[in-house]
Amino acid sequence: MKKQRSSLCLIEDDDFVKGLRSAYTLVLITHSTIDQGVEIDVTGVEFTSSCIGVLGDRRDIRFRVDRWVDNRRLCDRLPRLYHLDRRKEGLVWDKGAWVNNEWCWEWEWVRSIRGRVSREFEELLDIIQNIVVQSICRDKWRWALGVNSDFKVKELARLVKEKILHEKSGGQNMIWNKLVPKKVNIFVWGALKGRLSVRVELDRRGIDLDSVFCPCCNNIMETCAHCLVTCDLAMSVWNKIFNWWKLGSVNAFTIDDLFSSNGSANVPNFLSRI
Ligand SMILES: [Zn+2]
Repeated sequence: MKKQRSSLCLIEDDDFVKGLRSAYTLVLITHSTIDQGVEIDVTGVEFTSSCIGVLGDRRDIRFRVDRWVDNRRLCDRLPRLYHLDRRKEGLVWDKGAWVNNEWCWEWEWVRSIRGRVSREFEELLDIIQNIVVQSICRDKWRWALGVNSDFKVKELARLVKEKILHEKSGGQNMIWNKLVPKKVNIFVWGALKGRLSVRVELDRRGIDLDSVFCPCCNNIMETCAHCLVTCDLAMSVWNKIFNWWKLGSVNAFTIDDLFSSNGSANVPNFLSRI
């Protein structure tokens, strides 16, 4: 998504200082941002439907294809009228004019309204009769997924990352430990998913190896579980750690056993906070 830092000046006074402080992360949403956001929807984060327009000067919100009356778009709510509209993508600005200081809605249809479409037209009139049209500020957008409705790239990135990691982990929640380097978190995640470059995996991908046996014990095939848990060398390391942490004997045969939440039930208080 393209950053629009220059648009920060459009943020209202109260938000302006806050906007400057986070200039690199706060972006003003426009309807073109929402169109580009369709690619974000694919990740499972419903970005486009989370942007709700707040009507101001009517020059950014599109009457039928943006969400502004409520959480639904008028094109979905009144589909027959949408197809009859000559300017389907028109702004709210395009749908009326000031006459004697009063905003009057104007419509351009490809044919006259009759039959079943009439009911939709009556519904439209009901909807717009409660809308107050003013020109005191520009159209704004609130972001339903953000804190205080502010849109922040950082927050969106967090949501997308969370969604992607959740799907890749098959619905299993991944908890990232902030006290260890990222590469350690990634290594453990890879180990839990069986994605480490152990000999069995390399062989499965057609890489020519002299042996698929564990280079430490040369006795069992080198899988993720073997090299990190069941190999004598790995087990001797775990035994030392379990003794050090006073966790009793090691009772694990897979990487899941070691990192499962069940296992943490026996972890001393000072360690469970880590
Ligand atoms: Zn081994």
